Amino acid sequence: MLLLIPGPVTTRPEVRAAAAQDYAPWDRSFRPLYGAVRQRIAAIAGVSFATDTILPLQGAGHFAVEASLRSLLPPGGRILIPLTGSYAERMARLAREAGRDPVTLPVSDIAPVPPAAVAQALAADPSISHVGLVYSETSSGVVHDPVTIGAAVRGAGRRMILDAVSAFGALPLDLARQPEIDAAIFTANKCLEGLPGLSFVIARIAPLLAGRGQAGSWSFDLADIHAMGERDGWGGFRFTPPAQVMAALRTALVLHAAEGGAPARLARYRANADVLHAGMGAIGLTPYLAAPVQGPIVLNVHAPGDARWSLHGFVDALKARGFLISNFHNTQRPSFRVGCIGATTPDDMRRFVTAADAALTAIGVTRRAPAD
Ligand SMILES: *Cc1c(COP(=O)(O)O)cnc(C)c1O
Repeated sequence: MLLLIPGPVTTRPEVRAAAAQDYAPWDRSFRPLYGAVRQRIAAIAGVSFATDTILPLQGAGHFAVEASLRSLLPPGGRILIPLTGSYAERMARLAREAGRDPVTLPVSDIAPVPPAAVAQALAADPSISHVGLVYSETSSGVVHDPVTIGAAVRGAGRRMILDAVSAFGALPLDLARQPEIDAAIFTANKCLEGLPGLSFVIARIAPLLAGRGQAGSWSFDLADIHAMGERDGWGGFRFTPPAQVMAALRTALVLHAAEGGAPARLARYRANADVLHAGMGAIGLTPYLAAPVQGPIVLNVHAPGDARWSLHGFVDALKARGFLISNFHNTQRPSFRVGCIGATTPDDMRRFVTAADAALTAIGVTRRAPAD
């Protein structure tokens, strides 16, 4: 079964095999494993250990987003969040429930955020200290540009928190060239193609230390995680980590480098997305986004406007043909979504197009154009 969902993704057998043994995370021999993971992550994102720190957190990406908001914004602190889609809304909710003050900026969900809109919103409200940007908005499939938006943030003298969860390891990120980024957030199981259960924040040390004590949560206190690393050496965790997931991530990072790093991974995902976009059109379906704004991570397709269409029926018919897609949609109009990331190739996508064609026929869908 191939998982064509934008996380958790299809993984390679070597990655799963690396998790097939027990590890004692506090044992000295675990430290080199963790150290190797840190070095490889640093190389992917232009991390300098003099100014930056790589902080692992047990659990899902949402936890790392919440930890970043709590650790870098004081209670009541204001963060501008362009509402690119459901992951931006989730960041706003995490901020609100943590007692921070999200200021949402309505933007299109079918086009990149215009940097001028961010600059204007920042100029209008000097009390906003940060901008929270979702790099690859996994609900719409649109990629937003942290470089141009970051320039607007820097120009306004503010800071940025970047949700790079469905971007890191494929889309470009060079923290050395973007000093306005206070935190970049990612997980093991999206473009890095590791197993789920481990998330990371790359944070700037100075703002992290300046905000020490403000998290209001021991579990989500990034400054505390950093302090422990500095005190005890990097390798220990405050609470039991998913050590098997860390071991699988080390293998996933070795494979990432062997493939040619982020540029090669991006090229493969881009090829996957291009095959899917053209293939969906060729079988009479309508992709949600026009090809020029279609990102390489996830593709939404309008639901066919046929009375016999049922997302669950389609998902089951695809499953019978070896493909698993999400059984929910994230767009305003009904759609289905297909992940372009994970250990998959353009050939897999071609087989998926054939399977989708057959699955639609099997569930009796004849009208494939969207409802009017
Ligand atoms: C997947 C994802 C997350 C976090 O997902 P978890 O399910 O919490 O791991 C956050 N932001 C984006 C953009 C994502 O794609």
